[in-house]
Amino acid sequence: MTGTPVWAQLAYLVAAVCFVLALKGLSSPKHARKGNLLGAFGAVLACVTVFFYAELDHLVWILLAIAVGSVVGAVGAQRVQMTQMPQLVALFNGVGGGAAALVALLELGDIAGAGEEVGGFTLAATAFTIVVGSVSFSGSLVTFAKLQELMTSRPVVFPGLPVAFAAALLGGVVLSVLTVTDPAVPTGVLLALIGLLLGVLLVLPVGGADVPIVISLLNAFTGLTVAAGGYVLDNTVLLVAGTLVGASGTFLTKLMAAAMGRSVGNILFGALKGGSTLGAGVASDRPVRSAGAEDVAILLGYAHKVIIVPGYGLAVAQAQHTLRELVDVLGERGIEVGYAIHPVAGRMPGHMNVLLAEAQVPYEQLKEMDDINGEFKQTDVVLVVGANDVVNPAAKTTPGAPIYGMPILNADEAQQIVFLKRSMRPGFAGIENELLFDPKTTLLFGDAKDTLGKLLSAVKGL
Ligand code: NDP
Repeated sequence: MTGTPVWAQLAYLVAAVCFVLALKGLSSPKHARKGNLLGAFGAVLACVTVFFYAELDHLVWILLAIAVGSVVGAVGAQRVQMTQMPQLVALFNGVGGGAAALVALLELGDIAGAGEEVGGFTLAATAFTIVVGSVSFSGSLVTFAKLQELMTSRPVVFPGLPVAFAAALLGGVVLSVLTVTDPAVPTGVLLALIGLLLGVLLVLPVGGADVPIVISLLNAFTGLTVAAGGYVLDNTVLLVAGTLVGASGTFLTKLMAAAMGRSVGNILFGALKGGSTLGAGVASDRPVRSAGAEDVAILLGYAHKVIIVPGYGLAVAQAQHTLRELVDVLGERGIEVGYAIHPVAGRMPGHMNVLLAEAQVPYEQLKEMDDINGEFKQTDVVLVVGANDVVNPAAKTTPGAPIYGMPILNADEAQQIVFLKRSMRPGFAGIENELLFDPKTTLLFGDAKDTLGKLLSAVKGL
């Protein structure tokens, strides 16, 4: 890298190694905390290094921006509820993409102003950073608005949307070519505006349950943008970090889509073909069998094997500690208990693992779907705590249902199923769950923290 002293290049190398090791650490709950810290250390090292060798203009402004960003980021991250994490990720990701686009616009200004001969590849990377960074920025803001319920979380489709999208895409290509052949700031600004429009049009037709997947996709976009920005600025650490984010974001997107039994194309454009990605979300008034905590405690008392299926409602109720206590008490009574973790239970990848880790549930008790699905047949009681879609048989039996094709936990194969939920309202996909009406099913209505507390007292009193 020209102009960068050897010591700074070495510091960047150390930062890049930290990023790689951070990803490795994040792949297992045991090392995730260390991995996260290592990644943060690498980022700080990379940011500090540049201050010691580069001749920076506007130092006061830069330091002020860093101070404002750090305060907003730290306060935001501390205050956010676990269930709002996807929104926070969307916001942080969008800001990253927007920043990369702005840096590329400034770089384009320098290139156009200096009138020097610049390689076509560098100009193409600049155009790419501007347009994709803008897509990531506006798209992430729309995903934030959807998840924060500042706007409808249902797919927004209007006549002419596909044509508008195609026209914007074509405009983006033409302006990108113009940026390469005749670099000028007005072209770059237009390209950024087209990118902003594309981001909005891309995310509007995506329905609520699919939004976290699009956040992951936009995250991959931001990574690629930063990598291209690194190329333009001749900065290795940006290139490495951006590539890592781009690659891991792409994998995560594919894995999440596969866990929901969908293709990425269907998630992005399914609503344009007329299919909604969410059901009506209406509570059913069909009769069900409900019981009190004492009855369920007796059921558990006679069981030899119990499986817990945690879901989004457990996070809402913040009942993970009470659940752990209940499982401990059942264990002390000689009952075999395990947790069945569906890959998309909750509202973000790994949501249940993080939640249960918070309550110090041993990792050995958490079993992934494929490992535990064969065990339901020999299970006396399944306790479904604040989960719904992840055990909904419609995923197997009802073509056309929004979750059709999604692999589910085979809770229906157990001897008895107990749902802990507040009402007959459906889960995120907005569709009825036939398992609630199964003769083997009992409902224990109420907030999960409350009902689990009562269940715990009742089991202790057996
Ligand atoms: P669901 O959203 O299907 O069901 C949650 C259930 O919890 C509801 O039935 C609700 O019923 C109940 N509930 C809510 N609050 C409480 C409370 N305080 N006490 C007791 N029960 C409560 O959650 P699942 O985890 O089963 O499924 C996750 C869904 O999210 C899937 O559709 C998945 O595709 C989607 N998704 C997940 C992503 C991920 O990465 N994890 C990403 C994108 C989408 P009631 O209101 O009656 O209490």
